[in-house]
Order: sequence, then structure tokens, then C-alpha cells
Amino acid sequence: MTTTKGGCYCGAVRYEIDGAPQAQIQCHCRECQYITGGHPNAIVIFPLAGFRWTKGEPANFARSDLERPVTRFFCPTCGTGLGTRSPARPDSMIIKVGTLDDPSQFKAQAAIFTIDKQPYHHLPEGVPAFERRPG
Ligand SMILES: [Zn+2]
Ligand SMILES: [Zn+2]
Repeated sequence: MTTTKGGCYCGAVRYEIDGAPQAQIQCHCRECQYITGGHPNAIVIFPLAGFRWTKGEPANFARSDLERPVTRFFCPTCGTGLGTRSPARPDSMIIKVGTLDDPSQFKAQAAIFTIDKQPYHHLPEGVPAFERRPG
């Protein structure tokens, strides 16, 4: 079984994941634009069962004004956004590609929430794009 490792910019928070990714997605939604700084978010979705924090304790945040908010995990020291748990995918851990030790392994299988796409966002060639989530 493959083990994927990653962590934040300062190294205070680390994680490991056993098992293969369930999906690799490029998300253009407005929320992701805040989190990434403006560009689409590159995310890899892993089975939650294979995921563990191995160093440090991430801080987390969920908006209290939303009915079904996602919970975002980030390093309390350097602020790097590491991943997300979503009520839409209760058995998954959604990892931000930039926090993988080897981010080069990312290859988007779909672009989602292109309804929020900005003029300076690029869609990967030959990859299905969806206005919201795939049906
Ligand atoms: Zn950090
Ligand atoms: Zn998004």
C-alpha cells in the first residue's frame, strides 16, 4: 500500500495517508479563491480511514453561519491550509496538493464550480469541467 506524506510550510503539522486517492480535482469556487489567494484550488481526496496527523495539532475552522459548513484544517503557527472535511464526503479527507511532500503527482481529473471561474483562471486541457459538482 502506498503511503502519502505531507505537511505545512513551517513543518509544525505533518500527516500521512495510506491508500490511493479517490479523486483529484481543481476547484474554482469562490470559497477556494479566498483559501488559495485567488487561483483555483488543487485538491486530492483520500479515504478518511487511511488519514492521520503525525506531528503537531492543526487548528480548524467552520463557518457558523452556514447550514452544512466544511471544516478547514490549518497550521496554527504558519497558517498553511492543509485540508478539509466536507459533509458532502463524510468518509474522505480532502488534501491541498501544495502540502504534499511531492505535489508533482497531482493530475486534475475534473474542474468544478467553473460558475465562479475568474478570467485569469485556466482550465486543464482535455479534463471535464462542471459548473458546480458533477451530477
Ligand atoms: Zn506550519
Ligand atoms: Zn472550491
